[in-house]
Amino acid sequence: MALHFRRKSCRKFSFFQLFPGRGIIEGLKAYRKQNGSIILFGPEENASRLQIGAERMCMPAPTIEQFLEAVTTTVLANERWVPPSDKGSLHIRPLRFGNGPVLSVTPAPEFTFLIYVTPVGSYFEGGLKPINLVVENVIHSATPGRVGGIKAIGNYAGIMKAQAEAKTSGFSDFLYLDSVHNRYVEEVSTANVFVVKDNTISTPALGGTILTGITRKSIIEIAQSQGFKVEERLVSVAELIDADEVFCSGNAVCVMPVGNISFMERRL
Ligand SMILES: *Cc1c(COP(=O)(O)O)cnc(C)c1O
Repeated sequence: MALHFRRKSCRKFSFFQLFPGRGIIEGLKAYRKQNGSIILFGPEENASRLQIGAERMCMPAPTIEQFLEAVTTTVLANERWVPPSDKGSLHIRPLRFGNGPVLSVTPAPEFTFLIYVTPVGSYFEGGLKPINLVVENVIHSATPGRVGGIKAIGNYAGIMKAQAEAKTSGFSDFLYLDSVHNRYVEEVSTANVFVVKDNTISTPALGGTILTGITRKSIIEIAQSQGFKVEERLVSVAELIDADEVFCSGNAVCVMPVGNISFMERRL
């Protein structure tokens, strides 16, 4: 009976998907407005980022229209789970992966696209309390030429141990440095980083090792429209020492202030 069950479920939802590990996630949120209507933040951007990621992983991707329709259908089917405007949001997780009985490092015979959702409050415990980060210079989240610039599922598997260690030591997350010089700030596990000094907001430039955050892009546009100077460039870890302010951005965390950063046994 057990074997029968296993074989059946294998055929329906292949467990051979795990090798060679090709998968792309997306992440976005649906918000309820005060008047009760529901809005999505940036779904077209997520659709096109999924296409870029899928292309890098040799997978066909849904069209922009298919993606938008799938997201909208999923959100509407789960409308009652979209929290009131002041309580949280509906976190939407699209997932694209290759599956089928693959034995070698070759493209998969089949692909799955699915979306799941869950209501969420604030990402970090304690709501909008500033987070504390620790600079990590042994484990890197990405290396040049690999897939740090896309939301490849394997990227997260590789940093889970580091993230767990950061949490055990009382930190919210690691702040990763570049893997070549170990000197430039990259990002945290699932969010981009910004450093404020006077009227200038600096953020690490995209270049394949930093995720092309949609919240990041929005922040840059809003900051510029508010008269801030925005610089996308190499941001050295030393700049954290005399920054006025540091914050992180991502669809999960939204915009999160950083309270302190531990670096070389110092707490800034
Ligand atoms: C998703 C993600 C971000 C933030 O991107 P958004 O589009 O703003 O959600 C930043 N860094 C990493 C590694 C991510 O996975």
